Amino acid sequence: MTEPVSDALLKLLGEWEGFDVERVETEAEGDDVFGAPAPRLVLMLRAKAGAPKRCSQCGAIVEKIHDVSERRVRDLPLGEWDTWLVFPRARLQCPRCGPTVEAVPWLDRYQRMTTRLAEKIARLAQVLPIKQVAAWFGVGWDTVKQIDQRALAQRLGAAEDHLDGLRRIAIDEFAICRGHQYATVVLDVDRKRVVWIARGRDQEALRGFLTALGPTRCAAVDAVAVDMWKPYAAELRVHYPQAALVYDLFHIVAKYALDVIDRVRVDETNRLAAAAGQGKVREARRVIKGARWLLLRNKANLKTRGERVRLRDLLRANRALFIVYVLKDDLKRLWQYRSPVAALRFWKAWRRRALRSRIPALRKFTAMLERHLDGILSHCRYPINSGVLEGCNNKIKALKRVAYGIATMPTSSSRFARRFPEFPDDPIRIAHKCPI
Ligand SMILES: [Zn+2]
Repeated sequence: MTEPVSDALLKLLGEWEGFDVERVETEAEGDDVFGAPAPRLVLMLRAKAGAPKRCSQCGAIVEKIHDVSERRVRDLPLGEWDTWLVFPRARLQCPRCGPTVEAVPWLDRYQRMTTRLAEKIARLAQVLPIKQVAAWFGVGWDTVKQIDQRALAQRLGAAEDHLDGLRRIAIDEFAICRGHQYATVVLDVDRKRVVWIARGRDQEALRGFLTALGPTRCAAVDAVAVDMWKPYAAELRVHYPQAALVYDLFHIVAKYALDVIDRVRVDETNRLAAAAGQGKVREARRVIKGARWLLLRNKANLKTRGERVRLRDLLRANRALFIVYVLKDDLKRLWQYRSPVAALRFWKAWRRRALRSRIPALRKFTAMLERHLDGILSHCRYPINSGVLEGCNNKIKALKRVAYGIATMPTSSSRFARRFPEFPDDPIRIAHKCPI
C-alpha cells in the first residue's frame, strides 16, 4: 500500500520525531524582508499514539505525565511559507529527576524553534551580519545573536560549566575571517582553557560574558588580565569592583613600538631629510629607513655580524633612537618583579630616565603608563598575561594561526610585526580559511 502523497511529502519535509501532523492551517502575516506579504503555515502536531515519553534530563522512559501544555515554535520555512509548529508538550514526573519536561529531539534547547532552524541561522550568521540573518528569517536580532554566540562557543570547545569557579581570567581579541571581523576571547588562566568567545571587540562583546557569568560568579574573580587600550576597562570596573586589573607586558611593549619607536624613527628621518644635501646625512637616513625591524628585535636575536654592524651604525646615527631602544628593553624588566615595592622603585627610576630624555613621544607614553600604574603593578601579585594563550587548547592555537595568516598579507605585515614581535620573520602561513 502506498501512502497518500501529502503524508509522504510531510514526512519528507518534517520528520518531527514522536509526532504526526494532525492538520495544517494558514495565517495571514505581516511583510517579509522584501516587503511582500509573508503567509504563515501552522502545522498542528499530535503525539504519536503509543510513543514512549522520555525525561529530557536523564533520557529514561517516564510513565507518569503531570500535565500537557501547547507549545508553538518556529521551524524552517516550507516553500514560501513561514512555518510554525504547534504541539503538545508533556511535563513529566521522573522518578530520578523529579518534575521535568519530555524530551523532544528536534527542539532547540533554549530558543523557541527547531534545532534545524537554529543550525541554519548559526550557519548563515557565520557569513552574514546578524541584522540580515534576523530579517531573512523574521526572528529577533537577540535570538540570532544568542544562537551565533552559542555556536561559536561550541566550535571552540567552550562549555557552559567552564564559567564555574573562575578566579583569574585573561581577555584578548583576535582577527578572524581575514581581518574583516574580530572575536573577543575570555580565558580561564588557572585551568588554561577558553571559557567564552564572542564576535566583536567592543564592550558589547564582553557584556554577554559578564551577563552569563552573573553577579555571584563575578564576585569570585580575583584578577583580570586585559589590554590597557581596549574599552573593556570601564565595563570591567562595574562588574569586578573587587578584582585587580592586570595590564600585561605584551600589549604595552607592542604599543611602545608603535607610539614611541615608530614616532621617533619618523621624526628623526624627517629631521635628517630636512637637512639633506650632504652625502653623510643621506647615508644616515638610508640606515634609519627600513631598519625598524632591527630596533624591534631583541639584541640576543641579532645573529649575523652584518646585522650587528647595521644596528651599531643606526644607533650611532641617532641618540633618540638609542634612548627609546634601551628604555624599551628595560621596561620589560618591570614585569619580572614579584614585590610591588621593588617594582615601584624600578618604575620611578625608569620614569626619571624617560622624562629626562626630552623626547616628546616618550614623555607622553610615560605619562600614560603612570596613569595606569595600578594595573601594571598588580602584575606582581597576579603574574598573568595573554601569554597563557600559548598553553591553551588547540582551537585557540588554530585561531592564532589564522591571525598570523591574515597579518602576513602585504597590507598588514607591519601590524603583524608589531603585534607579534617574537615572530618577526617566521610567520606561519596557512590557507585563508575562517575556522569559526
Ligand atoms: Zn529523569
